[in-house]
Amino acid sequence: ETTDITTLLLSRIRDVADYPEPGVMFKDITPLLADPAAFSALTDAFAEIAERTGATKVVGLEARGFILGAPVAVRAGLGFVPVRKAGKLPGATLSQAYDLEYGSAEIEIHAEDLTADDRILIVDDVLATGGTAEASIQLIQRAGAQVAGVAVLMELGFLNGRPRLEAALAGAPLEAL
Ligand code: AMP
Repeated sequence: ETTDITTLLLSRIRDVADYPEPGVMFKDITPLLADPAAFSALTDAFAEIAERTGATKVVGLEARGFILGAPVAVRAGLGFVPVRKAGKLPGATLSQAYDLEYGSAEIEIHAEDLTADDRILIVDDVLATGGTAEASIQLIQRAGAQVAGVAVLMELGFLNGRPRLEAALAGAPLEAL
């Protein structure tokens, strides 16, 4: 059954060469989103991870983590909290800067939407270098909550995000479908 889901999901991901810049193979999930059976199967698989890890909320990473994470929260009966690029959240935020290949980025969360009792499943489409997910783990921990795990559709193994995240995850799972 796992193999069937993997085959279905893989068949709905479009590889776009040299986007958004030369040398990058962009993993486009819009065909998957447009296919109700594939989108629903993906949501079920993420929701199973949320339940198995004892998550109390889903954190989605801007922007595709919003699309994938919100239905997981609804299906698993959990709350949803967005991690946004800096400057987009109106309330009191925690901010975390992290390095990109060229330059840096900053992400934010509304700290009051997390409590000390929360266990957070982080959801995104692609794990590349792991920089975004690692900064999100730091935000969640600084907000006083625990990280239940990280769940992504795809992991680009050659970018070595997994060892970087495993250090930050301290035993919590990183699941790539
Ligand atoms: P990183 O912080 O390097 O792990 O990058 C992860 C973020 O960038 C995710 O939110 C992805 O949506 C996006 N991303 C990185 N590489 C790709 C890729 N090859 N195709 C699609 N999205 C990507």
